[in-house]
Amino acid sequence: MAFFSENGEQAFRGKQVYEWLWKKGVHQFEDMTNLSKETRQFLEESFSINHIEVDTMQRSKDGTLKNAVRLHDGLIVESVLIPTPKRTTACVSSQVGCSLDCKFCATSRLKRMRNLNPDEIYDQVVAIDKQSRLYYNKKLTNIVFMGMGEPLMNYNNVLKAIDKITSDEGLGMSPKRIVVSTSGIPKMIRKMAEDEVKFNLAVSLHSAIDEVRTQIMPFNETFPLKDLREALQFWYTKTKRRITYEYVVWEGINDTTKDILALIDFCKFAPSKVNLIEYNPIDDGIFQQAKTSAIEKYVSMLEAKNITVTVRRSRGKDIDAACGQLANKA
Ligand code: SAH
Repeated sequence: MAFFSENGEQAFRGKQVYEWLWKKGVHQFEDMTNLSKETRQFLEESFSINHIEVDTMQRSKDGTLKNAVRLHDGLIVESVLIPTPKRTTACVSSQVGCSLDCKFCATSRLKRMRNLNPDEIYDQVVAIDKQSRLYYNKKLTNIVFMGMGEPLMNYNNVLKAIDKITSDEGLGMSPKRIVVSTSGIPKMIRKMAEDEVKFNLAVSLHSAIDEVRTQIMPFNETFPLKDLREALQFWYTKTKRRITYEYVVWEGINDTTKDILALIDFCKFAPSKVNLIEYNPIDDGIFQQAKTSAIEKYVSMLEAKNITVTVRRSRGKDIDAACGQLANKA
């Protein structure tokens, strides 16, 4: 706004440009049609707009759309639109690659190249909202931070992006419709609780036994389950909000009664929900989805202890858009 008044223009022009950039997702000054030709040209000469671009879009048989999104420096991240009859969900990335080394996840092979800035995160959401309206005639209803990267390793930028997503000047979405999914970084979970964030938390647990978890998620050595549990306890005391655990059951890794009992024990301190996610193979042959009978056993034992449990089927598998398959396989 100051720029406009200092340059002899009316201050409300600033608001108009803001709306074009952040609400309508326009990336060229020349497309900002409520500004005069002279103003547009003046802006063109004074600024450049660093924006993201959907490089390619793939559509799955089940309607899921996967975008390869090109950033201003040429790096690519992926984001996904998942339509269901009741909701349309955007799954967005928070980093290019990932510094964690989860053995079952394709993104971990990319290593972390850089954090996304708040606008790059926000713009993914705007791009997906546009696609949702265009292809499905519906606006976006939910957002999950389950794309590439570990959101809590890029906490400040993720928070800024969410502020914008939830503000009236941005998309005005409710934080209750946003889930930040973390592999479980205790210090940052405490920070979230202290900051009294209003969005939801999901933790990728996959095992409640240290030896098993360290084998598949090596950083568990540094942040063992005891620390994770204490941080989550703190989160629950502060927020009184249920914790969701994401959990894949693999054959020969975490499919025994002992694994289930450990999970039940881990869930004791707060109301919990367990999402049993279908495994999406990443072509290494090491991990295999457990047998249906093992999954059924998880469900019945958890339910017997009054723990909410859902079995989630994958979406977009045929185009490598499902959880853990995002790895720029163009
Ligand atoms: N780093 C964050 C968010 C990205 S991963 C986190 O760890 O939560 C999003 C979810 O997909 C996580 O629950 C993760 O454990 C899961 N996931 C990763 N690879 C997978 C695979 N091959 N099949 C199924 N789920 C997978």
